[in-house]
Amino acid sequence: MDIHALRAFEDNYIWLLREGRRIVAVDPGEAAPVLRYIEEQSVDLAAILLTHHHGDHCGGVAGLLQHQPVHVYGPAHEAVAGVSIAVGEGDIVELPGLPASFRVIDVPGHTRGHVAYYGQGALFCGDTLFGCGCGRLFEGTAQQMWASLSKLAALPPDTLVYCAHEYTLSNIRFALAVEPGNAALEARAASVAALRAADRPSVPFQLAVELETNPFLRCSVEAVAGAASRRSDRPLSSGVEVFAALREWKNVFR
Ligand code: ZN
Ligand code: FE
Repeated sequence: MDIHALRAFEDNYIWLLREGRRIVAVDPGEAAPVLRYIEEQSVDLAAILLTHHHGDHCGGVAGLLQHQPVHVYGPAHEAVAGVSIAVGEGDIVELPGLPASFRVIDVPGHTRGHVAYYGQGALFCGDTLFGCGCGRLFEGTAQQMWASLSKLAALPPDTLVYCAHEYTLSNIRFALAVEPGNAALEARAASVAALRAADRPSVPFQLAVELETNPFLRCSVEAVAGAASRRSDRPLSSGVEVFAALREWKNVFR
């Protein structure tokens, strides 16, 4: 099975899983790039996977269903138009005609019902974990997002993370402000800058690299906790407090 990136809007990725002439689209915020791919490659759409209800992730569903009626898997705990199979924690998604199955992980925080799909060594996590960052808390609490990220961080370190936005470079600027002495982060800054200068995606990336460089997964590291505490000008005694302080800091970081 191959995985292709389609660009959508400013900085979204629509991920296509492909086996032979069948594809599955993950978070098609627009139909047009997927329809173009289907036409150019003469492939069939077999299913759609959705992580959450935001328009830049599911806005293309109606247009794709018009082209080809397929099953749409989406989060059980939020309302998304077009979803035919509602999924939640622990469900296994077997994709029709693809040698792939995915385990559903509930990851509330960015939205209340956000889900991620994990299988074949790949994680599709929408707007929960980003390269060197994480999604904003639009509906959930810091506690929820912290718990969700902790679940993702516990997956095998060689997991390839397919998030839905190309935010890595700007996230790295923030990460460097939090943890300036992190050599792995400096190395990542250089490699991602080179990729982006060549107009290549920084996604997917390995979870192991995230664990070494993403401040939101490093709340128990002394340098990160110390920076968050200095910034918020109070002692922070738990991982979730550090996480909440980092998230607030990032919201106003320019
Ligand atoms: Zn979103
Ligand atoms: Fe998004």
